[in-house]
Amino acid sequence: MVKKEIVSATKLKKEIEEAKVELLSRNKKLKLSVKTEAKKKVDKKKAEAKKKVDKKKAEAKKKVEAKQKEEEAKKKEEEAKKKEEEAKRTYEEDLEEQLTEDEIKNFAIDKTDMDKLVNRVTEMIAGYATKGILQNILWRKLKLSSRDGSRLALKLERMGNITREKILENGRWTYLLLIKKIPISTKSIENAPCLVCPVEKKCSTDGEISPKTCVYIEDWVLLELKTKKRHETD
Ligand code: SF4
Repeated sequence: MVKKEIVSATKLKKEIEEAKVELLSRNKKLKLSVKTEAKKKVDKKKAEAKKKVDKKKAEAKKKVEAKQKEEEAKKKEEEAKKKEEEAKRTYEEDLEEQLTEDEIKNFAIDKTDMDKLVNRVTEMIAGYATKGILQNILWRKLKLSSRDGSRLALKLERMGNITREKILENGRWTYLLLIKKIPISTKSIENAPCLVCPVEKKCSTDGEISPKTCVYIEDWVLLELKTKKRHETD
């Protein structure tokens, strides 16, 4: 009877030992499983964080690239604008930078009566009234070089006789010359009958003796017109 109890106790001890081993093994597996899960979660979070960082980096890169492109486009636009401005630049604008105001106003052509030339050119421009005339056409008519013509146009403008309008003609920038003020020439009145008229003192616009009814004035005006026309056709 005692022997049987001893066997049972030994067996029980063994079973307990086996149970302990089993429990230990399960615990180990459980711990491993928990660790693996935790690691997985950490890795997932890390991956998500990395993804976010990568996304932000990509966005920042895109922004930098977009800014670079924008700056390049702006630079190109400025260069194109500069080229366009340079193409618009005229010989006269260069002259205005190079010459002083006195050099422009006192411009003279060798062996040329400048007063006479100024009057002639001004009268010619006046003949085109509000339509004006292209400067190169005028210089051709006057057989002037464009060097002298450009300087003369600047002089006439400074004198207040003409205005210059910058225009694009056949792909080239040039100037349309328009009359502003016709200079009074003493020559135009040197043959006027009033200068030697014996009744000049009694003459008035509303009086009995008046330019409105004066035959001398009428004859003189008609003669002047005929002379002017003849000069224009010469
Ligand atoms: S308008 Fe005739 S009348 Fe009068 S001052 Fe002249 S020329 Fe003489």
